[in-house]
Amino acid sequence: MNDYDSQRIKNAIGIPQTDDPGKADIVIINTCAIREKADQKALSSLGKFKHLKKSNPNLVVGMTGCVAQLYGDKLLSKASHLDFVLGPRAIPKLAEIIKDVEIERTRIVETSYDIEEPFEILPYHENEKVTSFLSIQQGCNKKCTYCIVPTVRGKEINRPVEDIMSEAKYLVDKGVKEITLIGQTVNSWKNDGLKFADLLNIVGELQSLERIRFTTSYPRDFTKKLINTMKTNPKVCSHIHLPVQSGSNEVLSNMKRTYTVEWYLDVVNSLKEEIKDMAISSDIIVGFPGETEYDFNQTLKLVEQVEFDTCFSFKYSPRPATPAAVMENPVDSDIASRRLTILQELQRKITCKKNEDRIGKVEKVLVEGKSKNDFNHLMGRTSQNRIVNFGSKEDLCGKLVNIKINNGFQNSLLGSIL
Ligand code: SAM
Repeated sequence: MNDYDSQRIKNAIGIPQTDDPGKADIVIINTCAIREKADQKALSSLGKFKHLKKSNPNLVVGMTGCVAQLYGDKLLSKASHLDFVLGPRAIPKLAEIIKDVEIERTRIVETSYDIEEPFEILPYHENEKVTSFLSIQQGCNKKCTYCIVPTVRGKEINRPVEDIMSEAKYLVDKGVKEITLIGQTVNSWKNDGLKFADLLNIVGELQSLERIRFTTSYPRDFTKKLINTMKTNPKVCSHIHLPVQSGSNEVLSNMKRTYTVEWYLDVVNSLKEEIKDMAISSDIIVGFPGETEYDFNQTLKLVEQVEFDTCFSFKYSPRPATPAAVMENPVDSDIASRRLTILQELQRKITCKKNEDRIGKVEKVLVEGKSKNDFNHLMGRTSQNRIVNFGSKEDLCGKLVNIKINNGFQNSLLGSIL
């Protein structure tokens, strides 16, 4: 979501980017507030630009994103070199705000949720990129007790289908072959009588689009209709990111996740039964207030049972104005760290084993470009979202190719083209 917003920010400003802040006329720090660490990182990176402003008083310095929304005008009093603060909903106003700062030399805070056209600014599309995100939803209506997203991104707004399709067509015309539809609880999308499963089929009608992905899904809103659409629409990839957060019903209830472990397993089992070679990834929080050793063991049990392809796991981080931040029985930080290490080690083994199991198989890979580590290799992804590197002298970017897998590592597969 933040990457997508950064692309929109680039487009809204419309001037070339530089990697050297010393050469910049405008510096924008786009921020995330989901955990305290990210929040602190944002504030410390703001400090880094103080000396630049001193040597170049015309430099415009702005902070955007969730930290900007969270602290608003407090940021201006904290950092005298900061010119503007702009929340994630207000990106369409960015160009106007920069102009005002440059001409009037005023300091501006824009954290309103009432932006008339919240999706108006499209992301900047980098030439030759064959994959792209497309936002179909902003904000979130869920009430997860740990989560700051509804506070900093506002209530859920579902983007109209015509609007989504016009961005999708624009991307496909630019050569995009794979679109990932994004939203905080993307599968809860509905608009004008249409449900998310209908939207997948509508997007799938775009001729030269090869693949559709979507993230992040909310377990409770995962319908049979959606599973059936994933099964029957060949463009929809066989991968789902479905955060479970905990394997304990007690913890899930305290998190207000509105589903049980049994419900979650039912969705996962239906997906695995209905869709061939289905890959499932997840997010888990450890050390949530009140989480006992028994609860944590339930989480380990769930991870062993589901065998996630990948799983992002986090130590619970209390966030301002969230119900969990004032809950009783906080978990000792060292205990939470130990649980995180155990969980990550278990998942590492599962991921490695799953990747090794691919050895000898032939995978259809959408080629995205050169491999990061070896310029003689190309890199692509399978429908299950596994990264595959393989040697090729040909430029196959945007092509679907068959790759025989020769090796499986923790984060990628290595293969040869057939
Ligand atoms: N909308 C997503 C959802 O339905 O869960 C959440 C997106 S959030 C950017 C990504 C992940 O961060 C969450 O799934 C959760 O595991 C983790 N997370 C959110 N709040 C957290 C907190 N206060 N402490 C630790 N991890 C957190």
